[in-house]
Amino acid sequence: MKVTVFSSKRYERDFLRQHPTLTRVTPHIDFEFLAMPLSEGTAPLAAGSDAVCAFVNDALDAPVIARLAEGAVRCILLRCAGFNHVDLAAASKHRIKVLRVPAYSPFAVAEFAVALLLTVGRKTHKAYNRTRESNFSLAGLMGFDVNGKTIGVCGTGKIGRLFAKIMLAFGTTVLAYDVYRNPEAEAMGVEYVSKDDLFARSDIISLHCPLLPSTRHMIDAEAIRKMKTGVILINTSRGELMDMDALIKGLKGKKIGACAMDVVEGEAELFFDDHSGEILEDDRISMLMSFPNVLLTPHIAFCTDTAMLNIWGTTVSNMLEFKEAGPDATLTNEVIIQ
Ligand code: NAD
Repeated sequence: MKVTVFSSKRYERDFLRQHPTLTRVTPHIDFEFLAMPLSEGTAPLAAGSDAVCAFVNDALDAPVIARLAEGAVRCILLRCAGFNHVDLAAASKHRIKVLRVPAYSPFAVAEFAVALLLTVGRKTHKAYNRTRESNFSLAGLMGFDVNGKTIGVCGTGKIGRLFAKIMLAFGTTVLAYDVYRNPEAEAMGVEYVSKDDLFARSDIISLHCPLLPSTRHMIDAEAIRKMKTGVILINTSRGELMDMDALIKGLKGKKIGACAMDVVEGEAELFFDDHSGEILEDDRISMLMSFPNVLLTPHIAFCTDTAMLNIWGTTVSNMLEFKEAGPDATLTNEVIIQ
């Protein structure tokens, strides 16, 4: 079985080659690792492969899928949970299976959302830089207690529920909005409310829903208008859940107290590569990074040793299941158009 891996980074290749669990199976798979992302231009490089392995910012729209089909690729192995970047109708038309890793470590992402909150809340990133310069002043380092706050969780799936559980342990009130109420979350003490109610009552709002037409720009000017002045926004889900123009306006107008993001609209052009020394062309990302109360990390919430093992373990088992069951079987982690 030949698999062309796009957007592959050295840390992943080393992990795959060295991990004792994975090295038992990986020698039987002919991996070709390419650092470049998947695009219409690079898709022909996969010609003759049984599968391509793609990550969150690889393009998998209809033209790319058509190029993959021309090269007789029969399977797309997503080494991520989200599939908002895949044209499923195009994949189905070309009889290309789409397999994903539905859950690799919700703990990794939920814990990172907490880390973002505590970092903007206690300014640990600023204190760290300051002490390295032998500046031990406390000026400007006043933070806030999370205890006693009202937390709004948008999306109570695997990650949102864990985030809510951790927040409850901090002694907070947790409100949630989701299209489905989760009984496990309710049993923990989470109160489901309408989206507007969540916006109006929360001191801190954390986003954990997938990017869908119904969630794109769910944080827009209207939503921000309904929020408390000084609200803290945390986004570890997808950048496009936030309207960047509205976010910048909310920050400039001091309606938003702070915003911590692991994902941002336009990240595909920048993230996972070193652009230091370049002038960034994305004016909105540049502006966001200039705000002292904005914390931006490069989509690393998933990046733990446990998550990496699960990502590659599931990707390899998806690949082997596809090989054994063939193109007509319905596979365990297949993404099917609803
Ligand atoms: P999940 O599928 O378990 O949960 C998603 C929840 O969102 C579900 O409860 C669903 O009902 C809810 N939802 C769907 N549409 C909604 C809407 N219109 N309004 C409100 N809620 C809605 O997913 P998960 O594993 O918890 O992951 C959540 C998201 O986190 C993923 O979709 C992905 O975008 C993001 N993620 C980010 C990273 C990272 O490294 N930053 C890693 C993994 C996942």
